[in-house]
Amino acid sequence: MSQAMRNYRYKRKAAGKCGRCGKPHKTGDMLCEACRIYLSGLPRKKKDTAIRELKRWNVTNHALYNWMMQNKITVGMLAEMVHVSGRAVERWIFERAVPREPVRAAVEKLIGMEVF
Ligand SMILES: [Zn+2]
Repeated sequence: MSQAMRNYRYKRKAAGKCGRCGKPHKTGDMLCEACRIYLSGLPRKKKDTAIRELKRWNVTNHALYNWMMQNKITVGMLAEMVHVSGRAVERWIFERAVPREPVRAAVEKLIGMEVF
């Protein structure tokens, strides 16, 4: 929490308001009952959006993948080297995507072999 937000909350508290929602309350605490319960019940773990967890990263371009592993090249590094997005590189490795020219040529020149 920023200092500005903290100050703002203290001001609210001094004015007899909940530091979080700003509704008037009388207990003199920082938070009203509803906010106290809400905050204490907040899940601290990651959201249960299973999409990311369930996503399988099946390598489809093993030549490219192996070269990256052997040379300790990350998706971000390769993306930077050939001026594309990291997402584009992920598509080549995991989704059978083949870059258009001149990117394809640039990648294979960099790697020194045909990978697409
Ligand atoms: Zn509140």
